[in-house]
Amino acid sequence: MSIATAPTALSGVLPESRVLTGSAASGWTGGMPAEAVVFPADTDEVQALVRAANETGTRLLPAGAGSWLGAGGWTRVGGVIVSTARLDSVLHYEPADLTLTAGAGLGWRKLAALLEPNGQWLPVDGPGVGVGTLGGAAACGVPGPLRARYGAVRDNVLGLEVVTGDGRLLRIGGRVVKNVAGYDLVRLFTGSRGSLGVITRVSVRLFPRPEADVTMVFEGGVEEVLEVARVVRASPLPVAAAELVVRGAGVADGEAELAVRVLGGREEAEDVCSRLVAGIGAAPGGTMRGGESEVFHRRRIEWEGRLPLVVRLAALPGQLAATMEWARGVAGWTGGEVAGDVFGGVVRVKGSPGDDGAAELAETLTRVRREMEAAGGTMTLSQAPREVAARVGWTGAGGGGGGLAEKLKSLFDPRPVLQSRCP
Ligand SMILES: Cc1cc2nc3c(=O)[nH]c(=O)nc-3n(C[C@H](O)[C@H](O)[C@H](O)COP(=O)(O)OP(=O)(O)OC[C@H]3O[C@@H](n4cnc5c(N)ncnc54)[C@H](O)[C@@H]3O)c2cc1C
Repeated sequence: MSIATAPTALSGVLPESRVLTGSAASGWTGGMPAEAVVFPADTDEVQALVRAANETGTRLLPAGAGSWLGAGGWTRVGGVIVSTARLDSVLHYEPADLTLTAGAGLGWRKLAALLEPNGQWLPVDGPGVGVGTLGGAAACGVPGPLRARYGAVRDNVLGLEVVTGDGRLLRIGGRVVKNVAGYDLVRLFTGSRGSLGVITRVSVRLFPRPEADVTMVFEGGVEEVLEVARVVRASPLPVAAAELVVRGAGVADGEAELAVRVLGGREEAEDVCSRLVAGIGAAPGGTMRGGESEVFHRRRIEWEGRLPLVVRLAALPGQLAATMEWARGVAGWTGGEVAGDVFGGVVRVKGSPGDDGAAELAETLTRVRREMEAAGGTMTLSQAPREVAARVGWTGAGGGGGGLAEKLKSLFDPRPVLQSRCP
């Protein structure tokens, strides 16, 4: 780590060797402006930093590995970034109990390598999760297609240790799977994206890694594949995930593919696959098993990369055809790809819009949001060029809850010092 002068407001809280400034700081953030990046080594240091920030009025941004800092418009630029990267020890791992408690900075890959020899995993397949930290995944709380089988991130975070924006230390939830009566603060902090506090420890529920991983890919025209998706969604068979992808510039009449993932014991998985094929009445174009299936889905998690535009459209799973239609309207402007989670009803559009069409794209997005909200859905920008985001807004009427989010923010971060907005 390169050493630089500590920012004056927080000088003395951490040794200089754990403070980056200038080009070292912007190198770490990937170019996002930051006064400094600091690396506390334990919860006490996080608390000392947050208290010093309150005393000096320094703006802080909680972070993990910094893989998704500026995206989503949830965070403002500048201030001091507090990375939990050094809080990466495993504090409790009991394979027999299927639970784990670790520092928030534990890298996702390290976590997966630790669980693998015991045949266990934490099945969270939201976008970008594989390159971040456990705390980052809890802070963002974004599930992927595996939610259909394993639940959302919120369902699998059992407990958290958090230093709130005003410097209090909260230990909420538990280390083991049990029901606690009262307000569920763990669910409040999961998905709060660093707006209420710095998560320093996370306890999670683990799952046995299934013996077999099979993915069947059905290809065809969009309408045809949507019909297969409808049959899969209505089936009582235990399908782990199903994702529908439409590719190509001519998305309106494009070719689509549906990846149906089945997890379980070897015989069970093969049996589920053949019964699904019988129900669909058509054989898949291709079938992947084991590592091939896993890698296919891992790549899908990273599919949007650092593309300039990623839009998330969410509605009831039964409205998938309509949501896909809205998504394809947006994709017409971006020449991009559309991917829909068949069970979750969330459709993502990615693309690289040209510089000239920003006004028209913004108009389309605004119209799509209006129509989706009228139908009970939402449209959120995950990533967007600045001028598009400024015209459209990152979230619609869904965020905020009539000022409740701001009230919660003032309870945990009254000054405020934390740079992240309320989701
Ligand atoms: C290509 C890509 C696309 C992504 N798309 C989405 C998306 O659409 N929606 C989404 O929500 N996430 C998205 N993410 C983020 C992703 O879901 C993960 O959460 C990722 O693992 C972030 O981990 P990180 O440690 O790098 O977090 P960082 O990039 O360091 O931080 C990400 C966010 O989480 C907060 N945060 C991180 N750690 C903590 C902590 N310990 N305490 C409090 N707050 C913390 C930060 O303030 C920031 O708002 C994406 C990531 C990538 C790389």
